[in-house]
Amino acid sequence: MAFTIKCVDCGHVTPYYPTSTNCPKCNSQWREALYDYETIANTLPGLLPGRSFDLWRYRELLPINHPNESLSLGEGGSPLLRAGNLGLLLGCPNIYIKDERQGPTASFKDRQAAITIAALKEAGITEMVAASTGNVAISYSAYASRAGVKLWAFVTSLVPSVKMREIALYGSQVIKITGSYDQCKQVAFEFARQRGLYQDMGARTITSIEAMKTIAFEIAEQMTAIQEERAGIPWITPDWYVQAISGGMGPLGIHKGFREMKEMGWIERIPAFAPIQAEGCAPMVTSWKKGLEKVESITSPQTLIETLATGDPGRSYEFLRRIVQDTKGVFESVTDEEAFRAMHVLAKMEGISSEPAAAVAFAGLFKLVRAGVIKTSDTVVVNCTGHTMPAEPFLLGDNWSRDVKFPGKEDTPQEGLLAALTQVAPQRFPKVAIVEDTAEARRLIRRILQSQGNFFILEANNGREGLELIQKELPDLIILDLMMPEIDGFAVLEALRSNPDTATIPVIVTTAKELTPSEKSRLSGQIQALMQKGDFLNDEFLDEVKSLIK
Ligand SMILES: *Cc1c(COP(=O)(O)O)cnc(C)c1O
Ligand SMILES: [Zn+2]
Repeated sequence: MAFTIKCVDCGHVTPYYPTSTNCPKCNSQWREALYDYETIANTLPGLLPGRSFDLWRYRELLPINHPNESLSLGEGGSPLLRAGNLGLLLGCPNIYIKDERQGPTASFKDRQAAITIAALKEAGITEMVAASTGNVAISYSAYASRAGVKLWAFVTSLVPSVKMREIALYGSQVIKITGSYDQCKQVAFEFARQRGLYQDMGARTITSIEAMKTIAFEIAEQMTAIQEERAGIPWITPDWYVQAISGGMGPLGIHKGFREMKEMGWIERIPAFAPIQAEGCAPMVTSWKKGLEKVESITSPQTLIETLATGDPGRSYEFLRRIVQDTKGVFESVTDEEAFRAMHVLAKMEGISSEPAAAVAFAGLFKLVRAGVIKTSDTVVVNCTGHTMPAEPFLLGDNWSRDVKFPGKEDTPQEGLLAALTQVAPQRFPKVAIVEDTAEARRLIRRILQSQGNFFILEANNGREGLELIQKELPDLIILDLMMPEIDGFAVLEALRSNPDTATIPVIVTTAKELTPSEKSRLSGQIQALMQKGDFLNDEFLDEVKSLIK
């Protein structure tokens, strides 16, 4: 496993040693690992089928001489999940989630910690310093415990206390800094310098960049397996890679992975990169939108999402900007509110509970699809970078639980239990009829309703059945598709309106296509709302349902 380190600024090449952080020739801290790509291009693909699906399957492309299995916690090899419901909601069917929550400490930082700690162990280093907004320190702390490395973890006081406790649980020293993340990094840097300790240098840490690039390798292998049921080269890549960023190390490393694969002829195309920031701390987005070559940093971030609170990304911006330009990608920001909403959507529609930082990427995806930047025909991989935290109180608001008192001794058991059950839910829920010929669309609408309240849901899969069902059940609301075989939505509507029993039941019409003016005039005055399919993420749909039922 021969590799060398090349200075990005002057091209000078040196061997790798973890504690030598600067180019001996020009003093730059921006350097990258180089491998014998020609040999690896020919040999590694043949070895892959016999290796387990974790990040060590690419060991020839990692800066470790002798992978030490006893340190491994099973890092890498996270699943690539198809997000079918999100796809339907957005009208963008090819959305995949790289589920990095499934790492050993539940964020993509596990890759970074696994490789970096392995390199330290190999070099005989037994003490290190890291500044963190939480997840890096958690990962390092876990791997440090296995490797017998002492970790000094510097975190800001805004890091959720559950995260701080986890760092401490693995046996590391937690140092809480009251100040911004950039100030916290300064304190850590000075501490490490005075004591001569190894310290994590964020995106300038060679092992971190090398670790992150394994995500690119996995995405290409997984996309190929999903789409072609084979694993032949060239591998398939998505049109977009979307990730929430703080300092930008993830996309820098992942881009290097795609670059290496392209150089070796394993892939034909590098995806467009879409790094997403939290609006209250979006120095890269702002600088990019202003067309700046150097970043305009932010001194006091205004976001609840502490994981993403890098106010001064330094030169990472210059490199990431070039990547975004070269891949025809885009920088985007989203508000905390949008991120929290995306958390709900992801949990309620895909069964994935992410931390707010990871949800920033999904909120970014929603925004870019709506703006037409990501086209509905594009294939998108979104990195779900981090874990479920205990749901924060502000995320759920009130009314998310029902408190039921178990019957006391004074009631007869039967009566008491019945009384208790009435507290669980009222006897009657509003009745909603979904008349829709596509099973997928029915399921989606049912799920949207289920996740937002209690409804008694009736379904019909064509116009004739729909009419019968409605006349028998007299629902409180009808959700009606227009394009159906035999009796279409227009005819259903006419029949309903001409029968006094059903004439006043509110109707929301859903449609997959733009209506013609004459179609629109047939509907006018007959329905309460018109919803475009693929735009169900719009709050309007639920607001409409709620207002029509109450
Ligand atoms: C670290 C982290 C990020 C940001 O990663 P960078 O690529 O370093 O900017 C995003 N989400 C989660 C959950 C993280 O832990
Ligand atoms: Zn140099």
